[in-house]
Amino acid sequence: MRPFTFNKAESVTKALSGKREAAQYIAGGTNLLDLMKKHIAQPESLVDVTTALSNKIESDKNGIRIGAMVRNSALTVDKNILDDFPLIAKAILTGASPQIRNMASTGGNILQRTRCPYFYDVTAPCNKRNPGSGCSAIKGDNRMSAIIGYSDQCVAVHPSDMCVALAALDASVEIIDKDQKKKSILFKDFHRLPGDTPHLDNNLPDGALIQSIEIPQNAFAKNCAYLKIRDRDSYAFALVSVAAALELSGGKIRAARLASGGVAHKPWRWYEAEDFLKGKEATLANFEEAAEIAVKGIKPLSSNGYKVSMLRGAIVTALEECVN
Ligand SMILES: Cc1cc2nc3c(=O)[nH]c(=O)nc-3n(C[C@H](O)[C@H](O)[C@H](O)COP(=O)(O)OP(=O)(O)OC[C@H]3O[C@@H](n4cnc5c(N)ncnc54)[C@H](O)[C@@H]3O)c2cc1C
Ligand code: SF4
Repeated sequence: MRPFTFNKAESVTKALSGKREAAQYIAGGTNLLDLMKKHIAQPESLVDVTTALSNKIESDKNGIRIGAMVRNSALTVDKNILDDFPLIAKAILTGASPQIRNMASTGGNILQRTRCPYFYDVTAPCNKRNPGSGCSAIKGDNRMSAIIGYSDQCVAVHPSDMCVALAALDASVEIIDKDQKKKSILFKDFHRLPGDTPHLDNNLPDGALIQSIEIPQNAFAKNCAYLKIRDRDSYAFALVSVAAALELSGGKIRAARLASGGVAHKPWRWYEAEDFLKGKEATLANFEEAAEIAVKGIKPLSSNGYKVSMLRGAIVTALEECVN
């Protein structure tokens, strides 16, 4: 590992001023340290933000605010989360291991990098790690890669489970930039598609900090589900995942949310399928039709065609779980 200096920032102001060009913020370190050990990230200095940023979960009638330093495990036991936003806890509990969830922060989870095997293999061409070098996955092992929203420069998927739930719940990311200006970015606009700039995962300005996540109040708590399909039942990233949430009135769907992980460079919302479900009866036939709408037109890669039928089934199962 390349030598680096380490500074603990006691405040947001100190963190922002300590973030010079070759410095990188560190929170739980569960992703960044792996990247440093593999020489993918090579910061000259680390700015520890664990005491500078909030670790509080605060709620009021408008919704909930989750500080960037709230650990993933804290989100799985918080009463307000479990009462009003259980989809978040359900998604997080399918990810990583208890030890990693104890360290992983909310901000770091959102900014974790792809698990594409070629990204971690510094001997392989990879446009995300080394722009312009090529994409080894497109004609190589793309079994776990994207089936939608990819480009001819990168077919990687975003690995987070928590982010799929945040996308479904219309969260926003509250940031503060180098000039101490605060800004709110809608979750749907936070992560990027690869296009011809696959080295950029998201729209966080250089040097900015994530301070918190806000989720507006909603009526999805009673009828929501997170389904993750993976190679092993634990400690594995999603092949396909589905966050589903329904607002029901009688047997009718007043509003629906559907999002997926493991399918694209960012958490993916199935807006057309959501629109179809609105106003319909919560029946298996309607769930199957919504799933058909979602998968229509998807063009998988050479080795991941299986994900299309897996996704279709996962959408139906997740929607059924919402009502059972
Ligand atoms: C073996 C293993 C299995 C895993 N399995 C899963 C899984 O199944 N599902 C899943 O969702 N995740 C999984 N993870 C990923 C894990 O959830 C992430 O590593 C973790 O959430 C990252 O959080 P962190 O606080 O440790 O981030 P760090 O490693 O500290 O930081 C990650 C990145 O975010 C930046 N950063 C951190 N906080 C801020 C901030 N507030 N503002 C600006 N920049 C910031 C850092 O500079 C760095 O670039 C797994 C990880 C491991 C190691
Ligand atoms: S899919 Fe993206 S991350 Fe993977 S090798 Fe291609 S460019 Fe790199």
